[in-house]
Amino acid sequence: MIKLEQSISTVLEFTQEQHCKELVPLWESTNRVLAVDIFSDINMPPFNKAAVDGYACRKVDISEKLRIIEIIPAGQFPQKVIEKGTCSKIMTGAPVPKGADCILMVEETEVLSDDTIRFTGKDTKTNIALFAEDIKQGDMVLPKGTLIEPQHVAILAAVGVSQVQVALKPKVVVLSTGDELVETDVIPKAGQIRNSNGHQLYTQVNRAGAIPIYGGIIDDTLEATRNAISKAIGESDIVILTGGVSMGDFDYVPQVLQEQGVDLKFQTIAVQPGKPTVFGVKADKLVFGLPGNPVSSFLQFELHVRPAVQKIMGSNSPQKNIIRVPLAVDYKRKRAGRHAMVPAQINERGEVQPVTYHGSAHIFALSAVNAFISVPIGVESIQKGDLVDVRPL
Ligand code: AMP
Ligand code: MG
Repeated sequence: MIKLEQSISTVLEFTQEQHCKELVPLWESTNRVLAVDIFSDINMPPFNKAAVDGYACRKVDISEKLRIIEIIPAGQFPQKVIEKGTCSKIMTGAPVPKGADCILMVEETEVLSDDTIRFTGKDTKTNIALFAEDIKQGDMVLPKGTLIEPQHVAILAAVGVSQVQVALKPKVVVLSTGDELVETDVIPKAGQIRNSNGHQLYTQVNRAGAIPIYGGIIDDTLEATRNAISKAIGESDIVILTGGVSMGDFDYVPQVLQEQGVDLKFQTIAVQPGKPTVFGVKADKLVFGLPGNPVSSFLQFELHVRPAVQKIMGSNSPQKNIIRVPLAVDYKRKRAGRHAMVPAQINERGEVQPVTYHGSAHIFALSAVNAFISVPIGVESIQKGDLVDVRPL
């Protein structure tokens, strides 16, 4: 049994970044990993720009009446130079005229006649966004390895990138083992349960930025397990299996993986839930055998598979950040031999609260979960208010 830190680093150690990329339209680039550095083709702002609607003038003149010499809409360049006692009416986003060093906000002015105004405030900020203060032409604006989110799309659009070079998505086959499993649209007979893992993992793969392939339900026989695994390894970069990895008579997954040349790097981890988590490699392919219980498979995907998917795509932050949050209630456990990951919710007061949880089959517990509390080996109790390590989802 290896520790969590070690199992995660083992997965990352044996995960190779692939360098294949493709060009996608900007609108389809979210949740993809940028495959090249992006540089700006422009200065931003491209000129000294009015940050408010108002009157461009000289700061030394603000206690005087000012004569309006021009109206400058956004998108037009000023024709006149501001001199003593004059101003130009200017709209937000328009270029600031020469000679002006501030914009009086329209709300702080009074119109005296058709072409004169006066400042009614005490003092004014400059209200000018300076030429190139955000980005200089040629600056790197986003590094290779960025996981693209909508705010990055805005930056890409601003620097003229309409087609984005992103890493190719790895293909991930999801297989569910278990004679007791039936599909979602079937009413389970005695002893049967619906295949929730297959669908859960399919969508986790999708959210992690990879291409999920639904491999269906595999009977608990050696032959079915062999056929399914060999087919899955042939058609994917990553294979995820659930179930069949513990000590039961019909848990064939580790044995079949080894038969098929998968080099198993670990088979149990000192984590709760999720002790029987298997990881192996065959050439540059990765295989994960996750526990059958849905809370375990959910968590172990997030801890081990998601970082691998991100690393394959060259992400510069394959792992989610751990944050330190105060505990909302006292926490106690009886046995502290494993690293517990406790399903929890970060509440509106910024504290983390464990949810009601009956064990690793209790999928309903996860519906309100937005984080897992990380309780290290050896820690039996934690007091309300103490800072704990939390892994947000
Ligand atoms: P196993 O790891 O195969 O021993 O399965 C552990 C538990 O998880 C058993 O109660 C299984 O019925 C349950 N289980 C296994 N696979 C799935 C699945 N795909 N969806 C929901 N529950 C499952
Ligand atoms: Mg099973």
